[in-house]
Order: sequence, then C-alpha cells, then structure tokens
Amino acid sequence: MAALNLSRLIAAAADTIAAHAEALTALDQAIGDGDHGLNMKRGFEAVRGEAEAFSAKPLPEALKAIGTKLVMTVGGASGPLFGTLFMALGKEISAAPDRANLTLAFGKAIEAVAARGKSQVGQKTMLDVLQPVHDALLQGKAAAEIADIADAAAEATVPMKALRGRASFLGDRSIGHMDAGARSTALLVRTVAETVGESA
Ligand code: ADP
Ligand code: MG
Repeated sequence: MAALNLSRLIAAAADTIAAHAEALTALDQAIGDGDHGLNMKRGFEAVRGEAEAFSAKPLPEALKAIGTKLVMTVGGASGPLFGTLFMALGKEISAAPDRANLTLAFGKAIEAVAARGKSQVGQKTMLDVLQPVHDALLQGKAAAEIADIADAAAEATVPMKALRGRASFLGDRSIGHMDAGARSTALLVRTVAETVGESA
C-alpha cells in the first residue's frame, strides 16, 4: 500500500460530505429528523480544520484523534458510531497498513460499531454498508469495485425495515427509503477507494 496522504484524504472526505449534505438531510427527513447531512458536515469540517495536526501523527494516532473529533462534533446517533468506527480502526491498524492489516482492523472497527449501537446487519443502518465492504476486502476486490459494492449496499437498504435508530420508530413506514447513514458510509467508502485507489 502506497504511503497514505492523510491530509488529501481528509479534504476529499470533507468535500464529499459537503457536496452531499443536502441529499443526506433529505434522506433523513423522510424517515428521521432531517439532521444527518448537517451533522456529518459539521463533523467533517471540524476534522478538516485540524487536518494538518492529524496528518502529522502516525496513522493509528491520527485515526483515534479523528474519531474523537467526530464524536465531539457530529452529534446525533451517528456521531458516536462514526467516532467509534475511526477510533477502533486506529486501535487495530498499523502505521503502514497492508491490505491484510486494513481488512483485519476494519473488521474489528465494525464489531465496535455494532457493540456501540447494539445493532447488527439487516437493521437498515450504516452496518449494512460496512459489512459488505469488509466482505469485499476479505475477497480481495479492487478499490473501484468496493466503491460500487458500497453504493449497491446503501441502495439495498431501501426495501429494509428499520430496526435501529429513529427510523425504527416508523416501523413499516421506514420501508421504501434509503438509510441516511448507509448512504453517508457509502460516500466515504467511495472517497477512500478513489483517493487511496488500487494501492489499497
Ligand atoms: P439521529 O438519528 O440521532 O438524528 P443522524 O441522523 O446523524 O442521528 O444519524 C442517523 C443514522 O445513524 C442512521 O441513518 C443509521 O445509519 C445510523 N444509526 C442510528 N442508530 C444506529 C444504531 N443503533 N446502530 C447503527 N447505526 C445506527
Ligand atoms: Mg437524524
């Protein structure tokens, strides 16, 4: 894996979230409280604001610090969950990860999110994108294919009934809409895949 340009990755992620903030909010308006786009934008702009300091740290420390920042700034249910994802990733990843280490660390990070959210795959959440991405990593898929798998996985939350988060309050009425957190997760996966590219 080529040396990771973390400041470029942070800028790309913040740009993606900013460009899709309204669309994410619209998704959350349909079956939630309509704050997901704003929550994510606030968090990723805060991370962007400290990109230089984060990028100066070894990758594990940088990811832990980014996770902590996301917990403090995103808010909502998704803040602690995305924060946990990055913090757990930082705990398990090596300073110069190869594909095997990245896959292992990502798997542990997903377990940490599931534990934090008391959630599992199939409940119409961000986990429904994270898990297929981990499967694709395990199968050795290329970055471009992983980005497409993430998009398809977010799309696949449309017919699901929400069993966690605010959308679950709607019961059957949550069916027919994409989960906002699944969509933002897919956007981030594509950004990482396209920025880190085939070298991952
Ligand atoms: P809130 O629901 O507090 O308004 P957000 O709108 O920012 O927070 O985030 C909602 C997203 O968080 C959902 O679309 C879903 O993907 C994710 N989410 C919520 N609760 C859980 C949970 N228990 N486990 C996993 N993901 C969850
Ligand atoms: Mg919301």
